[in-house]
Amino acid sequence: MFNYPPAPLPGEHAASVIYRTFQQNCHQRIETWFNTHLKTPFFEMPQRIWVPVYEHLAEALQVYFSKASFIKQFTNLTDYTLFLSPQNFDSGYPSCIFHDLAKRKFEHGLQVITDRVWRYCPDCAVEDERRFGTAYFHTEHQQYHRLSCLRHGCYLKATQTQKFSLPPLDREREDIIAEVSILERQLQKLINIIKQVPSPERKPRLLSLLKQKLGVSRLHRLRDHNLKGMREAHVYLAEAFNNTPMRHFFRWGALCADRYPLNAPHGLLTMLQPDRFYHPMIYLMIAVTFLDEQEQNLLVELPFRGENPREPLPLVIIPESFKAPSCFGGV
Ligand SMILES: [Zn+2]
Repeated sequence: MFNYPPAPLPGEHAASVIYRTFQQNCHQRIETWFNTHLKTPFFEMPQRIWVPVYEHLAEALQVYFSKASFIKQFTNLTDYTLFLSPQNFDSGYPSCIFHDLAKRKFEHGLQVITDRVWRYCPDCAVEDERRFGTAYFHTEHQQYHRLSCLRHGCYLKATQTQKFSLPPLDREREDIIAEVSILERQLQKLINIIKQVPSPERKPRLLSLLKQKLGVSRLHRLRDHNLKGMREAHVYLAEAFNNTPMRHFFRWGALCADRYPLNAPHGLLTMLQPDRFYHPMIYLMIAVTFLDEQEQNLLVELPFRGENPREPLPLVIIPESFKAPSCFGGV
């Protein structure tokens, strides 16, 4: 794919490095390469289609970076493994990141790395053009929970079409508002806490906290549940998905309408089953919607669970101060 090792710019994302390298190379067009090797029209590509191509870049740069450090520095792929364990993959890490992750599907047809847009900061684009002669995509901006450029304090913009091109230089910056900045900080804090928990324990612990808050942790049959409370929780969650600033970057599909799973009594409970796999952003959204910061304590001691996801969850230790809202049925 590359005749010589490409030269990435500071903080540049792998897709951007690959695209620029093809642009500079007069011998091969990127459209032709994608059509030939991936059997995918280049201009109809969500981010996931790029994933297998990153390995070619990793090989071209292997003198400078191990595969694991390449993935960390040039891609945001490990973000998608937040709630996945090594046993969720067929091949060994880090090869699994390139091969298995691109194929992986989440519930409701949400393919991992569904994001169809690329994010950029208008100020960074202008600065990069001035410093390096080209705008480019930054790895940090592609994180799915990222809404603003931390350097410039403005909203990230989404590329307008599925057609891949480098960030435009003519977009106006918009200052980020306090509410969005708080959400972004909450999400980052929650991710940092989750990352401190061993990967097989992350989802069970988060789901256990959520079930406890919703007052459903001790109930195993649907008819035992407080149906009114669950309906209110569904409305609350649908509103959160409808009104979040994240909606610019995601298509939540059924989650934000009056459709399954949120219109069924057991909808949210189904989403909280440990053997279901949703996009990690969905778990994060549910967590920040229902749990306040003190309640996002995933570090409480839990006995290590077996690998059977259907095994009943042990209760987490209920903090002294815990009070479940009455609309969720209480504990
Ligand atoms: Zn910026």
